[in-house]
Amino acid sequence: MNCKQCGKCGAKWLDGQLYWATGAKAKEEDLAGLVCNNLGDDQCINPKRGDVTGDTWEKRDEFAQKQQKEWEEQRDR
Ligand SMILES: [Zn+2]
Repeated sequence: MNCKQCGKCGAKWLDGQLYWATGAKAKEEDLAGLVCNNLGDDQCINPKRGDVTGDTWEKRDEFAQKQQKEWEEQRDR
């Protein structure tokens, strides 16, 4: 089995599939947007570092705010 770990963000690749440090499956684009682009140095082995097509904290924030609004609206009913 081919196993690589990023010393910078702790993400692991097993046979080409990326996993978060938590063990959940991840996309390289998301890892780049959430972690590697911010930490951004040469220790990071994410091949998608610098890619901005994945998840970012801005998108996550937007999503979380929408989610919270929906919950609040449901509570009001
Ligand atoms: Zn990394």
